[in-house]
Amino acid sequence: MDRRDVLRISALAGTAGVLTLAPVSFAAADGPPGADGSGGSTTGGTTGGRTGGRTGAGSKAHPGTYVGAGEVRTRVVSGHLPRGAADFVYLPVEVPRGVRRIDVSYSYDRPDVPAGILGNACDLGVFDQRGTDLGGLGFRGWSGGARTGFAISAREATPGYLPGPVSAGTWHVVLGPYSVAPQGLDYSVSVSLTMGEPEPAFTPRYPPVSVPGRGRAWYRGDCHLHSVHSDGLRTVEELAALARAAGLDFVNSSDHNTVAAHAHLGPVAGDDLLILTGEEITTRNGHYLGIGMDAGHWVDWRYRERDDVFGRFAQQIRRAGGIVVPAHPYGTALASQWKFGYEDADAVEVWNGPWLPDDEAALLTWDNLLTGAARRGDGHWVPAMGNSDAHRDPDVVGLPQTVVLADGLDRKSLLAGIRAGRSWLAESSAVDLSFTATGPRGEHAGIGGTLRTAADGTVTVRLAVSGAPAGAGVRLLTDEGQTVGVPLPDSGTVEWTTTPQNSAYVRAEVRRPAADGGASLLPGPAVAITNPIWLVRS
Ligand SMILES: [Zn+2]
Ligand SMILES: [Zn+2]
Repeated sequence: MDRRDVLRISALAGTAGVLTLAPVSFAAADGPPGADGSGGSTTGGTTGGRTGGRTGAGSKAHPGTYVGAGEVRTRVVSGHLPRGAADFVYLPVEVPRGVRRIDVSYSYDRPDVPAGILGNACDLGVFDQRGTDLGGLGFRGWSGGARTGFAISAREATPGYLPGPVSAGTWHVVLGPYSVAPQGLDYSVSVSLTMGEPEPAFTPRYPPVSVPGRGRAWYRGDCHLHSVHSDGLRTVEELAALARAAGLDFVNSSDHNTVAAHAHLGPVAGDDLLILTGEEITTRNGHYLGIGMDAGHWVDWRYRERDDVFGRFAQQIRRAGGIVVPAHPYGTALASQWKFGYEDADAVEVWNGPWLPDDEAALLTWDNLLTGAARRGDGHWVPAMGNSDAHRDPDVVGLPQTVVLADGLDRKSLLAGIRAGRSWLAESSAVDLSFTATGPRGEHAGIGGTLRTAADGTVTVRLAVSGAPAGAGVRLLTDEGQTVGVPLPDSGTVEWTTTPQNSAYVRAEVRRPAADGGASLLPGPAVAITNPIWLVRS
């Protein structure tokens, strides 16, 4: 056994703590040949990784074939990580030439912890010989905590991982100790290389960026969906079928930290369903969606707010044709709260899945952003979005959804509509509404638009709703707060008048009755939420 306990704290410029373990080598001289191709293992270790193991059946040169074709070489590394050691732990793997496939599996202990204290949870991913530079080219896959291992070859890969050559050089298996028990985390990683000629190359099948649609129209979409390519349990085929059944016109693929699903989306898209290619960038300081990026475009997640690099990645998303949308800003899970601010956001997800108190908090924060935009008066504001974040049954695809006025059912038009706030949010496709403002001389504006009229000019605001559940109520809100709160009339229509002097903007909400009868003073779950109409003095 070769003991190499030395640790190195990497100074990856500008990124959160990274720990690099001693490298795993597959050089022929590195271990004695084994008889059965299985790996040996080591145990224990106090701080670092230890490598052990043995090669498989031994290298034999066959004239005209790859050296040791079919041979499997395995190494097993185990060690201990104390609490707070690093956000990411890199295990370098020296991959020799002539490897057809790499298999990695891992495990870690889950000691009992006191009530209320987080136990061990450790993510898994890999970078190839192109390196681990922040935002670099080496990314080859991520499964978070959803899998116990992965395999990659030229032709195929475990969901969440990118097929392609297993080229010679230093690969890095990444452990992400997401939460670590007071006792620390004991891990074991097994790396197997199958020698031989590369398989035929994988051909990605990306979805089209434009489908026929209905011209300029309102299109319904859910831009936050997980599949088997991260911690979802649905295949992309199942997701597409659910989107169609929910009456959606478009969806966005948003697996955690990987874009492996993109290459499989082409066959499930169609003239009736536009599929945008995105990612949920899952940092230790909150999650955000890259929506509608170029297919296969991956965005790094290995940073915290204090690393001051978020703006760089927001720019990267826009350069790749996408938009930046902080997700569930008040998410209740560890590391799910949004800490990067909203200066670089193109929209914000104020409604994530079934309506919960964290959505109420996100809505209030967003409303305050609107008030700030009114004060600046520069026309820049952050529109609201609603997405399901559906992972598995019984999560409902399209609860909620964003309904966007766009020139067509294509990536560019939809993202322009979302960025401009020409959109509203609905609990399902059964709900429809229109929301307009009309000035004294017939001036007119719709959702996301601006109505310019005299400061004291009377503006008539009109909301018409259909498909809302029985007992629903309507709220109209301005920069002063709620100015109208009434039961939704049988006619489905509510009118109200104001002036630009009184209201910098007006927006509408349809709510279900409060489950507690209003005792908490909080309104009931949302049925629909509009983006604002801005009222500006001419
Ligand atoms: Zn998330
Ligand atoms: Zn999510």
